[in-house]
Amino acid sequence: MMEPEWLGKAKPHRIICRKGHPFSPTPNNIRTGSGRCLRCVGIDPVACWEWFKARVEELGGLVVESAWLGDGTAHQLICREGHQTKTIPSSVKQGQGICRRCAGKTWDVFYVVESANHVKFGITSGDPRPRLRTHAKDGFTVELRVIRDLPGDFAPDLEASVRLALADEGLKPVRGREYFPSVATPLILSIVDQGLGEIGRQVASL
Ligand SMILES: [Zn+2]
Ligand SMILES: [Zn+2]
Repeated sequence: MMEPEWLGKAKPHRIICRKGHPFSPTPNNIRTGSGRCLRCVGIDPVACWEWFKARVEELGGLVVESAWLGDGTAHQLICREGHQTKTIPSSVKQGQGICRRCAGKTWDVFYVVESANHVKFGITSGDPRPRLRTHAKDGFTVELRVIRDLPGDFAPDLEASVRLALADEGLKPVRGREYFPSVATPLILSIVDQGLGEIGRQVASL
């Protein structure tokens, strides 16, 4: 029995769109709305605008610009690190990042921390200790998961998976997009550990 190989939620899967164009979205891209065939999206302003907003959100940012200005025009947005920046959609379509100040950073760490009543997950780049110290000062002193050296887009894609799973369960953030009541902790950890299993990473017991 032949079945298409499942490569994991964060891995690009080569597929062919209805019009016959090959493209390689990840399952997360498809769930968040950014996994569309860009040749079909083409220059249709409505499709481009929807795709751009979905892709920016998937990368942890938020489009501030109130309307579509065109593929080659800079649009205002805020990146996941809170930088206010201007980004040209066509360069994002070509696979570039959304923030110049964050360029060159690889989001290779995923973490889950907990306070008395809340749980917070997120991603960071390189050494996670400065970020974890900031959260600890904020009461998030329990490190439930800190996974370093993750490959490629795995950490951002895992973050998107967790966010979508929580939304599916009707769990709403209490603050920002990644602070949840502690009742969400088991679901978050199960998504994270399942994701790690898919890339063959051992879950460190903490
Ligand atoms: Zn197509
Ligand atoms: Zn940035």
